[in-house]
Amino acid sequence: MSRRVHFMNWSRTTALSVAAIVCLTMAGDACAELIPTPNFSDHDIPSTRVVEAPSVVWNAVDVGVLLVALSLASYFALVVRSRKYLLWLSVASLLWFGFWRRGCVCPIGATQNVTLATFDGTYVVPISVVAFFVLPLIFTVFFGRTFCASVCPLGAVQELVSVRNVRVPRWLDQALSVIPYVYLGLAVTLAATGTAFVICRYDPFVGFFRLSGNASMMIYGGSLLVVGFFVGRPYCRYLCPYGALLRLTSRVSQWHLRIPPTACIQCRLCEDACPYGAIEEPTESPSVEQLQRERKRLVVLLFMTPFIVGLFAWAATGWRGTLAGWHFDIRLAEALKQEDLGLATEPNTATEAFRGSRRSPEQLYEAAATHRDRFAIAASLLGAYIGLVLWGKVILLTLRRGRQEYTPNKSHCVSCGRCFQHCPVELVRIGLIDNVEQMTHETHEVAT
Ligand code: SF4
Ligand code: SF4
Repeated sequence: MSRRVHFMNWSRTTALSVAAIVCLTMAGDACAELIPTPNFSDHDIPSTRVVEAPSVVWNAVDVGVLLVALSLASYFALVVRSRKYLLWLSVASLLWFGFWRRGCVCPIGATQNVTLATFDGTYVVPISVVAFFVLPLIFTVFFGRTFCASVCPLGAVQELVSVRNVRVPRWLDQALSVIPYVYLGLAVTLAATGTAFVICRYDPFVGFFRLSGNASMMIYGGSLLVVGFFVGRPYCRYLCPYGALLRLTSRVSQWHLRIPPTACIQCRLCEDACPYGAIEEPTESPSVEQLQRERKRLVVLLFMTPFIVGLFAWAATGWRGTLAGWHFDIRLAEALKQEDLGLATEPNTATEAFRGSRRSPEQLYEAAATHRDRFAIAASLLGAYIGLVLWGKVILLTLRRGRQEYTPNKSHCVSCGRCFQHCPVELVRIGLIDNVEQMTHETHEVAT
């Protein structure tokens, strides 16, 4: 009896086990249908990186250091007015944000993370990255570009090598200063479409900060430093996309630094002191007739703005192919088509990987078509933005403002403090000379 019971129990257990295995196998198959094999065809193999456990702590420390550095830079530039302290702070920022933290996170690159998070709800941007993007802009609204003065490691490295200064002709400086706005528009477009983070890819100094980098990037960064010996801060003035944002915000800065601490005596001693061409000389206030003429011209220019912007938006539709060519899916779809038509001559690892994935060519072509449609809109928006930037520049150049004293141009001035030591009013303040006549007299004697 007990043997029979034992046999029945055994056979029930075996039957249940077989049934469970069959069910699990079927469920596994069903799951496999529901959860397709991941598609790695568009996956760049990342370089091996040790996951840093306390990275959240480091991010918080970085934000804290950034806040302290911004506060110190603003204090040194506006209150203490010390070029020496600003320089020491530059060195400290270069060591911390550049060499110790290896140039990342930085506000310049953070522009792209914030853009992608704005346009792609699935992309999560860490709060520290948002803080890095926003904090320098907030400080700039109040105090001018004190971030550029001595917090940004890219600015610091250029500031330290800027030893001889060749004055860039005004017209060339004005023309080149449009490039950062264009670069900003391009970087935002590529980030918003999930195509590429070009600012990081073409960061000229990150290779130096990390003591590694490919040859072309090292040559690019090295060339900028060599040019920087003679032309002050070439990357800041003619390339930096975040600098373009800072220029815009600095225009409205509440308490921007002044060259003389009190009233300007117009001795002209600071006239050539700025290696960045940011000092504007006094000009006569326009007469009433001139003002009326300028107002009329301004109205006409403003009236033309929508047409110019529309023209650029229309012309830029031709760029969509070039822009789309940056997108991985589109490039992969084109390579696949070439292979299928027998036109490809070279083997392509990306298409090989794609063929090994579960994604069908139809799905890829459909995704590529969706991206192409997006680029049609993105190219027009980019064109409209560039039209607005160029036309805005034209409008600004036609506006004349009366100035009573030598003044830093708020958007171009990086608050470096070099001009302070050229100003006799400042030298009296810090006790290096007794009165302003002393310096102007000595300077006159040297000149004659
Ligand atoms: S312009 Fe750009 S690179 Fe230069 S200091 Fe400012 S943020 Fe840094
Ligand atoms: S602080 Fe003076 S020298 Fe420095 S960028 Fe501004 S105007 Fe030029």
